Amino acid sequence: MPIATVNPATGETLKTFEAHGPDEIERRIALARAAVDEQRTLDFDTRARLLNRAAALLDEDQEHIARTMTVEMGKPIAAARAEAAKCAKAMRWYAHHAPRLLADEHPSPDDIKDAGAARAIVRYRPLGVVLAVMPWNFPLWQVVRFAAPALMAGNTGLLKHASNVPQTALYLHDLFRRAGWPEGSFSTLLVGSGAVEGVLRDRRIAAATLTGSEPAGRSVAAIAGDEVKKTVLELGGSDPYLVMSSADVDRAADTAVKARVQNNGQSCIAAKRFIVHTAVHDAFLERFTAGMRKLNVGDPLDESVQVGPLAMEQGRADLEELVEDALAHGAVARCGGRRPPGMDRGWFYEPTVLTGVDATMRIHQEETFGPVATVYRVADLDEAVALANNTPFGLSSNAWTRDEEEMARLAQDIEAGGVFFNGMTASHPALPFGGVKRSGYGRELSSHGIREFCNITTLWYG
Ligand code: NAP
Repeated sequence: MPIATVNPATGETLKTFEAHGPDEIERRIALARAAVDEQRTLDFDTRARLLNRAAALLDEDQEHIARTMTVEMGKPIAAARAEAAKCAKAMRWYAHHAPRLLADEHPSPDDIKDAGAARAIVRYRPLGVVLAVMPWNFPLWQVVRFAAPALMAGNTGLLKHASNVPQTALYLHDLFRRAGWPEGSFSTLLVGSGAVEGVLRDRRIAAATLTGSEPAGRSVAAIAGDEVKKTVLELGGSDPYLVMSSADVDRAADTAVKARVQNNGQSCIAAKRFIVHTAVHDAFLERFTAGMRKLNVGDPLDESVQVGPLAMEQGRADLEELVEDALAHGAVARCGGRRPPGMDRGWFYEPTVLTGVDATMRIHQEETFGPVATVYRVADLDEAVALANNTPFGLSSNAWTRDEEEMARLAQDIEAGGVFFNGMTASHPALPFGGVKRSGYGRELSSHGIREFCNITTLWYG
């Protein structure tokens, strides 16, 4: 895949970039490794000052970087601004909380009395250079949610961003440099996915984090496993959205629209499968379909547009294939199911609601990365839980119910990294984020995220 900015709203190639060659890759790895030695000596106050400075610069640059993201991958401009603001907030959150999250722990003398130590300390030390392989869908946020905790922990970061968001990738490199981080603390490698193996096998790379598709995750994890290097994987999702009989159906349906089409439907934590109790199914379907039909699809730079194009032509082709397979096997499109008539330029797709989906269809098991929802009718909670868990993925989930017993059951039985009751899944710096099953392993954000890339060291004093 060429490294280039191609506007998905028009299909026009705006700028192409030469990939870094072996000499430049070597130079950037060497700088990143050298920066580890400098950075681990910086105290928390210094790291926090640098991260807060990056947050302030990001706030100043908000309009510029928002437009860059929108032009590179098609998200509506208001959502791009919100993403930039969220990144600045996460930087400030980690600048403020990292000293507490990484403070030395002192096991109680009682707990270690038979360990032979007079005292012991658990210390969170950095691991070193972390390679971050990142996707285009939240091109700023995916990187910052890794970089902010990693830098506060004393690690350095090498970013291999998706090939279709090079300007955002270069912006991030420059942002941390302008904020005053030591040279090499955070660098962008402009390379295609073929260069990842060589970088990952380099002895100076300590660990890797990958957010992206399952095949990419499998490949990086296999190489890292071969090298015995730590990985965190944030992969795909097909989150269920349960609406039970006690739900506030109108709110559930209105939120369902947002949960499905956020980021033009290309979010790992977007609700994708809507599993609705038969008592409220028809009311939900009617309001949800009306909401999806009403959405304004168009140029994402237009402030009134709610759904922009898919980021890549291939992404739209993959989505079309899933919908066509479902329709050919008996599913019904309640709205959408096609490209918007008259919009010939760009990679647009109509918000779509499908019913009549069953287990023989590909769409039942695969991730729909675009504005396509499947709605299922279930008779009771057992059937809802079984259907929710009938997926290879386990990222997050949503459940609408006012019944405490149902909530307790769902909190226990849903196989996912999150259960969001009476709302939609969203990430927050204070809450852990990540999945189970084919959605990956490890956690980002919160105390759990910042400790993933730490050498948790036992200090034992005899
Ligand atoms: P992708 O094709 O896997 O790309 C993600 C990154 O991995 C890109 O930088 C890509 O580089 C690189 N890559 C691809 N194949 C690779 C390989 N074999 N070895 C090493 N690196 C490789 O995914 P995407 O299409 O950009 O993103 C969509 C997927 O990401 C969806 O499945 C979505 O659910 C998932 N996602 C998950 C989360 C989460 O937090 N769990 C968040 C966002 C997205 P190139 O661009 O150069 O190919």
